[in-house]
Amino acid sequence: MQTGNIGVTTENIFPIIKKFLYSDHEIFLRELVSNAVDASQKMKALARTGEFTGELGDLKVWVELDKEAKTITIRDRGIGMTAEEIEKYINQIAFSSANDFLDQYKDKVDAIIGHFGLGFYSSFMVSKKVEIITLSHKEGAQAVRWSCEGNPEFVMEDTHKDDRGTDIILHIDDENLEFVEKNKLDELLSKYCKFLAVPVVFGKKTKWADGKEQDTEEDNQINDTDPAWRKKPVDLKDEDYKDFYKKLYPGLFEEPLFHIHLNVDYPFNLTGILYFPRLKTNLDIQKNKIQLYSNQVFVTDSVEGIVPDYLGLLHGVLDSPDIPLNVSRSYLQSDSNVKKISSHITKKVADRLHDIFKNEREKFETKWDDLKLFITYGVLSDPKFHDRASKFVLLKNTEGKFFTLEEYNEAVKANQTNKQDQVIYLYATDTLTQHTFIDAAKAKGYDVLHLNGQLDIHLINHLESKLDKVSFKRVDADVIDKLIAKDEAREVALSQDQIDLLRPVFESSTPENGNYSIQFENLGEDGLPVILTQSEFMRRMKDLSAMSGSAMGFYGDLPDSYNLVVNTNHALIRQMLELTQKEMGGMLQDLDGKKVPVSQQIQELEARHKDMKDEEIPQAEKDQLDELHGKASEFDNQRRESLFQFGRQTPVIKQVIDLALLSNNMLKGPALTEFVKRSVKLIGN
Ligand code: ADP
Repeated sequence: MQTGNIGVTTENIFPIIKKFLYSDHEIFLRELVSNAVDASQKMKALARTGEFTGELGDLKVWVELDKEAKTITIRDRGIGMTAEEIEKYINQIAFSSANDFLDQYKDKVDAIIGHFGLGFYSSFMVSKKVEIITLSHKEGAQAVRWSCEGNPEFVMEDTHKDDRGTDIILHIDDENLEFVEKNKLDELLSKYCKFLAVPVVFGKKTKWADGKEQDTEEDNQINDTDPAWRKKPVDLKDEDYKDFYKKLYPGLFEEPLFHIHLNVDYPFNLTGILYFPRLKTNLDIQKNKIQLYSNQVFVTDSVEGIVPDYLGLLHGVLDSPDIPLNVSRSYLQSDSNVKKISSHITKKVADRLHDIFKNEREKFETKWDDLKLFITYGVLSDPKFHDRASKFVLLKNTEGKFFTLEEYNEAVKANQTNKQDQVIYLYATDTLTQHTFIDAAKAKGYDVLHLNGQLDIHLINHLESKLDKVSFKRVDADVIDKLIAKDEAREVALSQDQIDLLRPVFESSTPENGNYSIQFENLGEDGLPVILTQSEFMRRMKDLSAMSGSAMGFYGDLPDSYNLVVNTNHALIRQMLELTQKEMGGMLQDLDGKKVPVSQQIQELEARHKDMKDEEIPQAEKDQLDELHGKASEFDNQRRESLFQFGRQTPVIKQVIDLALLSNNMLKGPALTEFVKRSVKLIGN
């Protein structure tokens, strides 16, 4: 029997293992099972090269749980270790790196995880004692038992073992008893070991019998040793990819849209299958992520920062021996191999999408709605992806027709170029509430895009900055003739006096909340009497600040501003003008009559003062002028007030404004109730 000290200056290693690696301590199982898998694969390799000529037998790894003894055993029939090998690989080597790192990174958790391959010693994160019982494959080898109780002293002695290979026995400590639960081990094995290359057996398969779960005779193998991504694409059918998808995400019922099988040998080694998922809810996006493997050993499914965010929306697996195990996120992010892998994947993904677009455009179009979020995200966040994707980014119009960016420009350029030589892309975010405006645009022969995606407002900004002489305007941003302003100015059918008369009448009846400014435009005899528009710029700013959800809110805090556009050429508006003139004419004339002498006096005084310096004007005249101005504005106020009153008392005014609100889906609650009642009354009249 041999006793001794592990390494040299290792007094601190065990407390550090326990303390700093607390959050990640479940990885111990992955480390031990993958060591066992390695030992088994080495055995196979020795047999292949003829260095081992004995019986290979059943090369599996067994994980055994003894709840009573509170032990977990990881058993393999791999190459095993001699006493010298334990001395070398366990007692010495494993600790030499530990010594270095202890000096360098005393307090930095990240650095610890990043630079110290934990391996076998991670078992001490959860164990008060660890035993190794091993018999080397070498002829005439002596079995060895090594044990250590979480301090630098170990015991090593000869023992008896029938079978070749290694048992690692963990005596789980009291703080980690969660790991002596079958369910917990099931969970960890399926997280970390699902695709290891050697069969891993955990107990027996169970079945329901006599009202309870019972073990069967059959081994419960928890892994698929030959996962789809390791196979050649030619050997796989579409079904196989779909089956593998289900295996990866047992909780997902949607089938993926497409897959990409990655297979790279140079300049780095990478295999994997990526899937474009059908994105349903944000929850799905967060839950099911790309899984990163290193030689079939699960590394992580937190790929943020490792692959660009938009690739993070994809599902699937990436496997590369160049992805280091046991390293921290920040370490992975700065790793140059990982960076190369990431840019390679970006290119592959774009190429594959382009292929599908070129060869199966119809299929691509039918899946566009699901692909769109992903592609838009990529276009917005990665200039390289933008360049590649600009050939297959699609715009969909309100009739459901798809265009590439180039095709769309071709299609609308002739008819939708304004007098400043800008091509105006009209869009609707909601084809129902903006229907009136879409209709008006179509009547002009314009095309209207349907941009209702979560990221479309950003995409619009992005495309405006990338495309030459193109601006986007939502169909309700202005009256149609101004959305795409051409030279053919339209005559307004009312005089300035008539407009001045009507303005307060309409102002009296605008909704209380929000800012409404009244404009008079010729919308044609067949246009609506009143429409409601909202400036593109203001709306976009408000939308953006609402989306960013921040309190940045300068724009967000502004009240909504709308334009109520009164159609000067509509018969109804003319009728209202006539009604106003008829009802209010007498009284206004009376007011005007009273105002005339006041205005005359003002004019006279001002004419007299024109060539005088301020100090030359007598104070009395100054006071008189002030008084006259006061009187004049009182008449103006009276005029305005009476027109206001008239407006409020005239139901048709409110009615046409409400109709404009209604066609923007903005008439709600009490206002809607009132509208309905008023409509009934008006019909009755
Ligand atoms: P790593 O696996 O990264 O080399 P470990 O600390 O996990 O580091 O293991 C150290 C060494 O111990 C391994 O390289 C291997 O030589 C040996 N070893 C560990 N587990 C086994 C096993 N189950 N069978 C044979 N050798 C093993």
